[in-house]
Amino acid sequence: MSVAGADRNADLIVIHGRVLTMDGGNPVAEAVAVKDGAIIAVGSRAAIEELKGTATQVIDAKGGSVLPGFIEAHMHLFSGGAELAHLQLGGVHGFEALKKAIREYASTKPDAKMLVGQGVDYTVLGDERVTRHHLDAILPDRPFCMAAPDHHTMWANTKALEMAGILHGRALGPGNEIVMGDDGLAAGELREGEAFGPVLDLAGEGRVRLGLATGGEPDPMPSAAERAADRDIMRRGLAWCARHGITSIQNMDGNLYQLELLAEIDAEEGLPCRVQIPFHYKNFMTLDMLDKATVMTERYNSEWLSSGMVKVFYDGVLDSWTAVMIEPYADRPDWVGEPLFTPQQFIDLAVAVDRRGLQIAVHSIGDGAVRAVLDGYEAAQKANGKRDSRHRIEHIEVTTTSDVPRFAELGVIASMQPPHPPGAMDFPLEPTVSRIGPARWPLSYAWRTLKNAGAHVVFASDWPVSPIDPILGIQAAVMRKPWADSDPDQSFSLWESLAAYTVEGAYAEFAEHRKGTLKSGYMADLVVLSADIEKTAPADLHKVRPVTTICGGKITYQA
Ligand SMILES: [Zn+2]
Repeated sequence: MSVAGADRNADLIVIHGRVLTMDGGNPVAEAVAVKDGAIIAVGSRAAIEELKGTATQVIDAKGGSVLPGFIEAHMHLFSGGAELAHLQLGGVHGFEALKKAIREYASTKPDAKMLVGQGVDYTVLGDERVTRHHLDAILPDRPFCMAAPDHHTMWANTKALEMAGILHGRALGPGNEIVMGDDGLAAGELREGEAFGPVLDLAGEGRVRLGLATGGEPDPMPSAAERAADRDIMRRGLAWCARHGITSIQNMDGNLYQLELLAEIDAEEGLPCRVQIPFHYKNFMTLDMLDKATVMTERYNSEWLSSGMVKVFYDGVLDSWTAVMIEPYADRPDWVGEPLFTPQQFIDLAVAVDRRGLQIAVHSIGDGAVRAVLDGYEAAQKANGKRDSRHRIEHIEVTTTSDVPRFAELGVIASMQPPHPPGAMDFPLEPTVSRIGPARWPLSYAWRTLKNAGAHVVFASDWPVSPIDPILGIQAAVMRKPWADSDPDQSFSLWESLAAYTVEGAYAEFAEHRKGTLKSGYMADLVVLSADIEKTAPADLHKVRPVTTICGGKITYQA
């Protein structure tokens, strides 16, 4: 055998699959060959088996779908990794069930400084709003707090409020609120990060939240042991991604510390997923602090770890009335929410970030926030000239007819989360649909309307806000039903949903020529599923499981 012949051999081949390449010119194939971290061929089983040598690893897809690795376009790796160890309260309803879950968890964590629950429905107690008194009746003597699935509201017991020093309230920035009771003491409900930050910090996971809470760095710098513990949290999160078929992560909070931890893992054993970490710009910062975003971008610039993005929150969420609406909330007629930036502040920020050549991603849930952010992007284009900026808007839960076409006009990416519409997956219809009101339903979570208007739509989970599983997201997107018969159908086809988790995700990170598609020369990032996803009934999609995840030619997960 000639040396040249040996060189042709693949490191790994996937055969006997239904390969959905997401490549328009060659949409379906049977097999894929990988060498040196890249795809070297996509084609028939016979053609690919010709590239098999004695050392070639063979993966039999057994007729299952083979897809480009999923690109998670909006998630929170560090906090998600930490929360995997918290009490999971999704699906728990009623006081007795809540009591049982919390007490059982508390008994397994006798030494925890603070007990934390996740994923509590806003309607866990039906129409009754949760107060510290409910939680005191469950756990009077140990600090306990629990977060709503959207992570924008928490509830704490009296012990936790006392220890955090907020039982008597505290002055907070706009959009944040410690809800006060008739007795002049905190009622237990804490709205937005400044309100519940002091409680969560008691859990000793303050470093996990920094990228979201302040965008700042740990102070003092963590000890070697703390860094090691934090790397393990990251590893746990990364493994969770790999087991769900994810090969690229666009993280939506960040700081230098997160990049350092990931770089350390990369140096030690290699990353199982490619990660982009943004600089998080908060409303108390000044524009010169964007220097740090530029430093992060220049320092971390590999195919595995990168930055290049500035993340911003313009508003809050509908369920706590902190999203910014153009017209008042349907169930609170005197209130439109309070933005975290003034429109002019945001315009100045957008112009400054865009001038640095960085991408901007802004959390904007209400139609007022969406409009203000589009205005900022338009101002940036006028000030700096039109370029391929691919600025993004995250969530877009409500928008307006006049703003829909501006996405395509301004080249703005619509980053949407199929699990989020009330009723689509885990979130109940109420209170959200009443907050929005029927007049705004037709343009709520309007994936289809935005796509039809020419916008690039990317899908994601916003994990840990929703379960990370892209297949659950695909199912939610395909099965989406309008809230009223007169509302437009916003569902996506299977292929459109797959594209929104692959090629469109690659586009969102300027990488559509290197990933998101199974094509010769592209990164060897792919996932093998347990069944043929095209032949699976929509209601059964959740049963389809990733069996092998491959990232950069390496197997990162095998069932
Ligand atoms: Zn998010």
